Amino acid sequence: VVVKDDGDGDDPSSSSSKDGVELLCVVRAVLKKIRRRVLVGDKVLVGSIDWVDRRGMIENVFQRRSEILDPPVANVDHLLVLFSLDQPKLEPFTLTRFLVEAESTGIPLTLALNKCELITEEELESWKMRLRGWNYEPFFCSVGTKAGLDAIAFVLRDQTSVIVGPSGVGKSSLINILRSSSDGGGNVEDENWFEPILGNKWFEDQRVGEVSTRSGRGKHTTRNVSLLPISEGGYLADTPGFNQPSLLKVTKHSLALCFPEIRKMIEEEKCGFKDCLHIGEPGCVVKGEWERYPYYLQLLDEIRVREEFQ
Ligand code: GDP
Ligand code: ZN
Repeated sequence: VVVKDDGDGDDPSSSSSKDGVELLCVVRAVLKKIRRRVLVGDKVLVGSIDWVDRRGMIENVFQRRSEILDPPVANVDHLLVLFSLDQPKLEPFTLTRFLVEAESTGIPLTLALNKCELITEEELESWKMRLRGWNYEPFFCSVGTKAGLDAIAFVLRDQTSVIVGPSGVGKSSLINILRSSSDGGGNVEDENWFEPILGNKWFEDQRVGEVSTRSGRGKHTTRNVSLLPISEGGYLADTPGFNQPSLLKVTKHSLALCFPEIRKMIEEEKCGFKDCLHIGEPGCVVKGEWERYPYYLQLLDEIRVREEFQ
């Protein structure tokens, strides 16, 4: 928020001294008229401020560095695609859908695989090799045992990140543990809250629910987005309910670029045709023996059908 000095002299303090103050704002009518939607994460100019009642009016919205629509958040620096290795099992096609959706935004992404304590060392190694074949280097972690969380906190520091992934993989648990304690959440002092032998029943403690009740919304009912400050600096978007990638921004021509394997093959000049869909056109060798080729074809079909009916 940039606070506009409205010159009425009732508050001599500079805007920086008001950092962290929450203001309930209305959006100026003219912005609505030109359909300038205000998104979570937007930098805005606020005027007509009443510091006592903590109210103001959003008068303008600054140019966005980036924007994603599902969930709607502006100025996102980084996407964290979170899946679990088990409970629910890692399903490669579902993972591919999320990765494609994330890649299509052009925003840098990190892939993290949670609940690593639920699988064996060999299984973990085999996922690592498999995903390396997809050209991803995933982070392995466990919110339960706290393994690998430092590395994740490190990549999130000082950025605005959005966590995406299917339900049940541990998004809320991760957000909750990374939240800065000054924000009233992220109660991480209690080292004993994870008790794997009791399984996930016990794990389902109020801490996860707390995040949502504190902000006054039911965990799976509404689709509000909020930005929560994290201890390392920066913000994490809490995005309950957004766990179905729509792929609406992906076109049949942009799909290929959402697969790092294809990007690499194009760089290696295995296909130099501009509008190639890589489905066996003569001279294109992108078609071939790579694991996710069938997924590529399946998504291409889906997108072609959608484009035909648009
Ligand atoms: P979300 O739907 O992605 O937000 O997932 P939640 O954070 O609600 O977590 C779903 C379930 O997985 C809860 O019961 C968590 O306690 C549990 N969970 C989260 N992280 C881990 C982990 O690292 N290991 C295990 N075993 N369970 C976890
Ligand atoms: Zn091609």
